[in-house]
Amino acid sequence: MKYRKLGNTDMDVSVLSYGASPLGSVFREVRIEDCIETVRTVLDGGINLLDVSPAYGETLAEKNLGISLKGIARDRYYLATKVGSYRPSADDYDYSAARTRQSVHDSLERLGTDYLDIVHCHDIEYADHNVIVEETLPALQALKEEGKLRYIGITGLPLKIFPSILDRVDKGVVSAILSFCRYELNDTALADMLPYLKEKEVGVINASPVGMGLLTERGAPDWHPASDEIKEGCRKAVEYCMERGESIAKLAVQFACAHPDIPTTLVGSANPENMRNNIAWVDEPINEELLAGVMEVLKPIHNNYFTRGRPEHCE
Ligand code: NAD
Repeated sequence: MKYRKLGNTDMDVSVLSYGASPLGSVFREVRIEDCIETVRTVLDGGINLLDVSPAYGETLAEKNLGISLKGIARDRYYLATKVGSYRPSADDYDYSAARTRQSVHDSLERLGTDYLDIVHCHDIEYADHNVIVEETLPALQALKEEGKLRYIGITGLPLKIFPSILDRVDKGVVSAILSFCRYELNDTALADMLPYLKEKEVGVINASPVGMGLLTERGAPDWHPASDEIKEGCRKAVEYCMERGESIAKLAVQFACAHPDIPTTLVGSANPENMRNNIAWVDEPINEELLAGVMEVLKPIHNNYFTRGRPEHCE
């Protein structure tokens, strides 16, 4: 496993990091034994950044991650969670100062720790950005001063949400951004924003290298927001790899982790075997011929993104 510095933080993060949303049964029902074994596999494989949110499985992912981390030394991993999105299916988003404070306290308890390395404002395309600047970020800064968290981040799908906040706050307030599905085989738009993010001294966390299931043989789950055109385009790429006896997930994970200016990429799975594979793949050389072939198949849908959130934040 290789490690890269995350922006201006003191964290050297593994190029592949672990997203714990599947521990909240968001892709399929999970057993606690699988969660415990997956988390052990991840840490033993050299991954040192774990990402979760109270929204994943309506707190189930945090609970299962907390149980899985019991007895493991706290200095073996960096832990990131989020505030603001709680129950997306019921439109429960709340970025107020009061709920932010409460949420961080609840997360600390569920995760069995007394500090968090990063707390992100989760999916701010659903937020009024005045509230983020005037309430959420100040509440998180106060919690930072109290020692409950070390760094603040923001996450979301449309890329324009990042400058919308970063252009309004001083450097150093937001130390990291988490972008998902915007640097993977079928969409590389995040790469164009890297010089801007560097200038803002922000560490970049990329997520969902297999497109939340789009670039897997199992395919995307029912709730996936991509259009049928994108799903169909990705399916063709999956089949292209299958016909050649190759794994598209392998290519997708290798591709995302290879960008030298993207410190880390979060991948999720509650299957220890998947995580063992993901960890092994990042150290293997990428099959350039297969990559060129897959890029050709994906050309008709390249950067053909899906969006969501309040109208003013959609792209
Ligand atoms: P992902 O692209 O990592 O896809 C996860 C799916 O791919 C799961 O179904 C998993 O079983 C499958 N998978 C993983 N490795 C595989 C392998 N080797 N072979 C076959 N299938 C494999 O998407 P994700 O889980 O949504 O994203 C990763 C993490 O990033 C999340 O868990 C979360 O922590 C974070 N994330 C955050 C946000 C946000 O903040 N808004 C959004 C998306 C993701």
